[in-house]
Amino acid sequence: MSDHDFISGSKPIGIERGEGVSLYTADGTEYLDAGASYACTPLGHSHPVVVDAVQKQVANLTFVDSSFPVESREDAYAALVAATPDGLDSAWFCNSGTESNEAALKFARSATGNSKIIAATRSFHGRTMGSLAATWKDKYKAPYEPLAGDVEFVPYGDSDELADAVDDETAAVILEPIQGEGGINVPPAGYLETARELTDEAGVALVFDEVQTGMGRTGSMWACQNAGVTPDVLTTAKGLGNGLPIGAVAVRDWIADGAASHNATFSGGPVVTAAVHATITTLVEEGYPAHAAAMGDYLTTELEAALGDEVREIRGEGLLIGIELKRGANRVARDLAMNEQVLALPAGRTVLRLLSPLVIDESEADRLVDALHAVIAPDTDAES
Ligand SMILES: *Cc1c(COP(=O)(O)O)cnc(C)c1O
Repeated sequence: MSDHDFISGSKPIGIERGEGVSLYTADGTEYLDAGASYACTPLGHSHPVVVDAVQKQVANLTFVDSSFPVESREDAYAALVAATPDGLDSAWFCNSGTESNEAALKFARSATGNSKIIAATRSFHGRTMGSLAATWKDKYKAPYEPLAGDVEFVPYGDSDELADAVDDETAAVILEPIQGEGGINVPPAGYLETARELTDEAGVALVFDEVQTGMGRTGSMWACQNAGVTPDVLTTAKGLGNGLPIGAVAVRDWIADGAASHNATFSGGPVVTAAVHATITTLVEEGYPAHAAAMGDYLTTELEAALGDEVREIRGEGLLIGIELKRGANRVARDLAMNEQVLALPAGRTVLRLLSPLVIDESEADRLVDALHAVIAPDTDAES
């Protein structure tokens, strides 16, 4: 970590190279990456198909603005729209997750003519002024206020409270189909369907933030497909370019038709869209969402057996897994890294989050389980 970076937390592990689920330091020590890259590499580190597409594109045409048709951008739009649920027929590329949510909230306002945004407790939508306003934690918001106004928070998962909040001033309801940063919170069955019904009746835009849940992680391409609910706006980023910085917003026609002026200089640049096209086509053709479902089931079963009573709960869908610990998650993540060479992430104070690349296989999953057993339940017999 540079001495000049006054924001990022520094981990005493210098990474030099990545391949598949593994990261390597300069001296060749291997770490199993079960989350440290924030779900940004669904195909694993430096996947050859993505590397090849990016190398060819950067050499051929690194950048031209989005008013010129470019094959890699057109291909990426086509692949994205084909991979999103039916009804989301238009899309726009931006540069990050927070920017995709900014666009979603702007589009919802222009399409409805309303301004009120309804968001959920424990949400995370990003750190620019608008997305931050819809983010729950005060720690992120308070020092930067005032933010973009008119956001009302409702308890995540509570259909009645949501019904009370939606009114004829509302532009959007924005929800993560499963909350990520907030602790891997899976809503009760029926919650997303109710959100769909309420917003349909009121003419309000339903926005699903799939920045973390998307790209096959939950066992379907998008987590909303597990619930059988299609939003009006779907936002995504993180894994979209398998590590290259890009976000996207996919929308229904009424949102596209109602959108006012909006754009970004780097929107859909040739190199990042080459990465998107390679990532989506590989994910789909190799069946990685189904693999994520199977590996998620396997990991969850093995984790239940290995950790048992030493943890409060193991929850999630596919390879989006949260382990509710009986102690602080930061300490457990540190011990995993330093003693077991396994990288995982906290999601709140007591939840350990596993977001391994979707390419993880059974032997790698076994290694992950053994490491967690060694750190979390060292005094019990390993059952795996
Ligand atoms: C990470 C994340 C964001 C913000 O994405 P950035 O690319 O960091 O701006 C937004 N929403 C969710 C659900 C996220 O997990």
